[in-house]
Amino acid sequence: MSTELDLRWEWIYVSDVRNLDQWIKGECNHLTPEPLHAHPTGELVAHLCPDCNTQLPAEWQP
Ligand SMILES: [Zn+2]
Repeated sequence: MSTELDLRWEWIYVSDVRNLDQWIKGECNHLTPEPLHAHPTGELVAHLCPDCNTQLPAEWQP
């Protein structure tokens, strides 16, 4: 396994005869979600994953 893989994502090993160390990027792990707060209440309404730009539930836990 290459040490260059980004742990923020899942990786799928897809080696073949021409490339024995080939990985494709799979699902995002959403490791660093940023909280989104409503204005002006400051209520936590969602999280946004900056890696894949997916909006996650407020209760999201990485
Ligand atoms: Zn993500």
